[in-house]
Amino acid sequence: MKLSDVQFQPWHTLVDRFFICQNCSWVDTDSGRIKVGTPCKYCGQPSPCGRIYSWSGATSVLDAIQDFYFLRRAKPPSPDLGGTTEHIHTNETDTRIVIPLLFCTLWEVLMTRFCVEILRAKAIDDAFQERLLSDYRYARDKREKLFPGLTGEKWIDALTELTKSSELNYTNHFEFYRNINRKRNAFIHGGFHWHFKDDELEKIPEELWPVFSLFAQLHNRYIPNLVRK
Ligand SMILES: [Zn+2]
Repeated sequence: MKLSDVQFQPWHTLVDRFFICQNCSWVDTDSGRIKVGTPCKYCGQPSPCGRIYSWSGATSVLDAIQDFYFLRRAKPPSPDLGGTTEHIHTNETDTRIVIPLLFCTLWEVLMTRFCVEILRAKAIDDAFQERLLSDYRYARDKREKLFPGLTGEKWIDALTELTKSSELNYTNHFEFYRNINRKRNAFIHGGFHWHFKDDELEKIPEELWPVFSLFAQLHNRYIPNLVRK
């Protein structure tokens, strides 16, 4: 099923379906965890109850992308009495800009959230957490400096490893995001005209599941081991 085919059901209900084991912190989409006594497929401990893995504000961003994706296709009433057509196509509300910007925001929200998860799992005190997050404010700094500092692995190497055991290619997904993000930065920080192409915009809905899946896999790669210590 393609998300872009789903208009009237919030996309977060299709993407945000992860549960977390309360014993080992493993995250997966095993809805059997809701049933008391269901053994965790990772640690084998029976589930005391299902606990939903929270993505914080990321799911709201996901639904916003959906709204703009279909707004982009909205047929204005004819005649255009309220000026809907004109309004949608002004620079202020142009969905060609908003959709990729929200996609990059989603990535940043999840990256920050993941770093906070690691910092907490390492029991780093709150004040130092704040300082690190402030020092490594930008997503790139988090990937290239904070991430290896916390995990001992390079970001690109982690993606390569995760791709080996997945049906998704996280390296390709990351390259797609990075390309969109470069154009976003050139637009926002460099003042250049936006260069997002239609085929890139059309691909964004299909890259949403890989984003959430990637951050769930990153969680599993590091957090359960840290929690066990
Ligand atoms: Zn478990």
